[in-house]
Amino acid sequence: MADSQDEPLWVITPPPGARLPVQGSDRFFPVNRIFCIGRNYAAHAVEMGHDPDREAPFFFLKAAGSISPGPRFPWPTETADLHHEVELVVALSKGGSGIAARDALDHVWGYGVGIDMTRRDLQAEAKKLGRPWDVAKSFDHSAPCGPLLPVTAGGHPVAGAITLDVNGQRRQEGDLNQMIWKTPEIIATLSRYFTLEAGDIIMTGTPAGVGPLQRGDDVTARIEGIGALSLSVV
Ligand code: MN
Repeated sequence: MADSQDEPLWVITPPPGARLPVQGSDRFFPVNRIFCIGRNYAAHAVEMGHDPDREAPFFFLKAAGSISPGPRFPWPTETADLHHEVELVVALSKGGSGIAARDALDHVWGYGVGIDMTRRDLQAEAKKLGRPWDVAKSFDHSAPCGPLLPVTAGGHPVAGAITLDVNGQRRQEGDLNQMIWKTPEIIATLSRYFTLEAGDIIMTGTPAGVGPLQRGDDVTARIEGIGALSLSVV
């Protein structure tokens, strides 16, 4: 048996952890898991052919490695219908299970502007066949996200314009106050299904106006009071 001091701990080189930059800092936020909520703005639920009435939130995940800081967004493989979904991103500083909604914001480190990139053609096929959404939602670079704004600098946003422009034209427009399930309720509900951990991030759903992107598009997503994210689709 080899001397344990000569033996490296890992049998292969561990992959680098996913991370997000922080506004006004050269430090990083480590990304653990990416939880996403579906149909959290009534107008988007309607445009996707669903009932706008408040129903229990549903969740899906993207792999942590889906995080992408931009500004380049490589066109994904195996799709002819790539859609943008601008979303408020919530980054957790501490975890827990069974978190009460009134305590939930104590678990938030900061917020950011993200895009839930979606292979809409593959998602439509998955819905039709009753199959999982992973290939439609959790692909390479599928979670572009701008630098995070710490709560200590920006507080907890409850209202503010959330928009997405493609080549200077407005495509998505809403307000954070239109979120059906608010950030504290989302955290409380997620924590019933999962033991949340520091480093988990949550994409909180998209307002109306989702649509297709093309190679060569310039995309700018903005949330009032939080920041912006610019991407070139290459
Ligand atoms: Mn989404």
